[in-house]
Amino acid sequence: MYDVLIVGGGPVGNYLAYLLSGDHDVAVVERKGSFGGKACTGIIGAESYRKLKLPARAVLNQLNGARFLSRDGGFEVWRDDAQAYVVDRKTLEKELAMRAVRRGADYMMMTKFVGFRRGRAVLQHLNEEFEVEARYYVGADGLASSVARAIKASTEAEILKGYELEVVGDFDRRKVEVWVNKEVNDEFFMWVAPVNDGLARVGTFGDLESFRRFLEIRGLSPLKAVEVKAGSVALGWRRPWVRENVALIGDAALQIKPTTGGGIAYGMICAHALKMAIDSEDLSKYWRACRDIRKQISLGLRLKKAFRKVNQEEIEKLFRVLSSEDVIKTIEEQADFDDHVKTFKALIRKPSVLAKLIKVSPSIVRALL
Ligand SMILES: Cc1cc2nc3c(=O)[nH]c(=O)nc-3n(C[C@H](O)[C@H](O)[C@H](O)COP(=O)(O)OP(=O)(O)OC[C@H]3O[C@@H](n4cnc5c(N)ncnc54)[C@H](O)[C@@H]3O)c2cc1C
Repeated sequence: MYDVLIVGGGPVGNYLAYLLSGDHDVAVVERKGSFGGKACTGIIGAESYRKLKLPARAVLNQLNGARFLSRDGGFEVWRDDAQAYVVDRKTLEKELAMRAVRRGADYMMMTKFVGFRRGRAVLQHLNEEFEVEARYYVGADGLASSVARAIKASTEAEILKGYELEVVGDFDRRKVEVWVNKEVNDEFFMWVAPVNDGLARVGTFGDLESFRRFLEIRGLSPLKAVEVKAGSVALGWRRPWVRENVALIGDAALQIKPTTGGGIAYGMICAHALKMAIDSEDLSKYWRACRDIRKQISLGLRLKKAFRKVNQEEIEKLFRVLSSEDVIKTIEEQADFDDHVKTFKALIRKPSVLAKLIKVSPSIVRALL
């Protein structure tokens, strides 16, 4: 019998296994035979990367700045220190799994969780079914979580398809490009995240036609792509996160930033909360301990809703406000890639900025307040 059985050896499941394995008997069940492979740009905020003590080996590129582009204009922000990293998912996941194994965790690769029977997890390896018992079970098995289904956690989240190419070209390796043009894609922004000077991960959430249009506008050809991936994100809530001795984490719990679709850092931050709850043998503490992340998700969902309502003309006006010197200075000094609450609070605390924002987009300001 294990203390904790984690279903899913993605970044969040492996990170949780690493956190727990020093103090508990932990096993991870992963249905695939190797790590990585998921559609993911792999951008993680530098501050989170440092705080979470993630492996330097997984870093492919450091991003210091961003170019925000709309239909008619744009602006740039820059910091001398790293703002975010582009990581190799396979290396990240494998390094975390190796850390967990070194601390004593067991890994059952090519093993699938199929459900619970009499309080035990039913697993399947190469058509052979067997049961494993644990004091606590954790579903870290991604968006289409079988564990969430087994505990009847429900969701009305919005599901968005995501498309991504790794494309060869000329890029400014220190700057990510963020394109906001609802006439090209009215669901989401589009990104170009350099892996180095000659390769970038280009993607968006929405429909394939919008993605094709963006590639054309940006002057990138799918014929120069050396990797193509598709996946999904879900923006909203899935509840409950805990039922009896079972908890959900990461994408399985929809701990996803609605403004960017990123879920690696939020899931890992929640892993600390879950470890605390497991250490104190009280899973009900987990939801409360994730309060900050829940606040970030709530703000993101409000912003996403406001984004849906504005048209491109409003976005152009917003861009003109954001391009002003005082706003850029505030973003450069205060912005945190994974802490949007802090970033937006810093912006609306400036009366001059708030006044300009109210004038051009009251709905965005309402979402922020
Ligand atoms: C196009 C795109 C771009 C993205 N870009 C970013 C980004 O730049 N930064 C960021 O932070 N996030 C990004 N994301 C989101 C990110 O990929 C997820 O938030 C992240 O993968 C969540 O990690 P996880 O460990 O919770 O789940 P997953 O990565 O989904 O891992 C779940 C694991 O569980 C395993 N599993 C599933 N079912 C079972 C089962 N029944 N039994 C056993 N094992 C099972 C799977 O094989 C998988 O290994 C992006 C997503 C998309 C689609």
